[in-house]
Amino acid sequence: MKTIGLLGGMSWESTDLYYQQINKLIQANYGQLHSAQMVIISVNFAEIEKLQHHGLWHEAGEYLKEKAIQLENAGADCILLCTNTMHKVASYIEDSISIPFIHIADATAKAIQQQNIQKIGLLGTAFTMEQDFYKNRIEEVGIQVIIPKAESRKIVHDIIYEELCLGVIKQKSQQKYMEIVEELIALGAEGIILGCTEICMLIGNQQFSVPLFDTTSIHAKSAVDFVIE
Ligand code: GLU
Repeated sequence: MKTIGLLGGMSWESTDLYYQQINKLIQANYGQLHSAQMVIISVNFAEIEKLQHHGLWHEAGEYLKEKAIQLENAGADCILLCTNTMHKVASYIEDSISIPFIHIADATAKAIQQQNIQKIGLLGTAFTMEQDFYKNRIEEVGIQVIIPKAESRKIVHDIIYEELCLGVIKQKSQQKYMEIVEELIALGAEGIILGCTEICMLIGNQQFSVPLFDTTSIHAKSAVDFVIE
């Protein structure tokens, strides 16, 4: 069986979900006691968060590149970077490994295309919502991406760093997120990308009039598809 390489810890709350979901999918596919072959490097998120908020993306890219090389050397057959935000520096990794890098935005765009959606709402960190690195990747395949208004983006961003990355789930925050999803639907969103790997913990089980695209489970499934192929 092929070995999946996870570059995680951003935050570990979501890497935990990747680990569980990948194992469950492998078991569902192969049965019984089968589980996934994985190697995981889990970083200290406090260090990454500091680099992000100081705009030190080059340093972050170099740091993650080294970790990706370690994963390849440890026997990984593919690499998943278990965070949407840090795909801002995905090219540092892609350029330095010789195994496939499974890009979270590509996997997500594919899932959206399968449902024939033309206009999608995006929730994530401010970096993911406001910068081009993520949106462009989705728009390249002909899907229009819309984001919440500035005030709502701040709420979404702060809840990620102050609650979700710490494993804190508050009903009040869930309510706020649901209102922001409704704002995006009112703007014409035909689906919503949960474009931060912790957001599924807050609203992943809620019902809306449009489908949710949970990047954690989409990404985890794409790794399992790679193994099965
Ligand atoms: N896991 C989050 C994401 O998918 C946020 C944490 C981070 O900044 O890496 O973007």
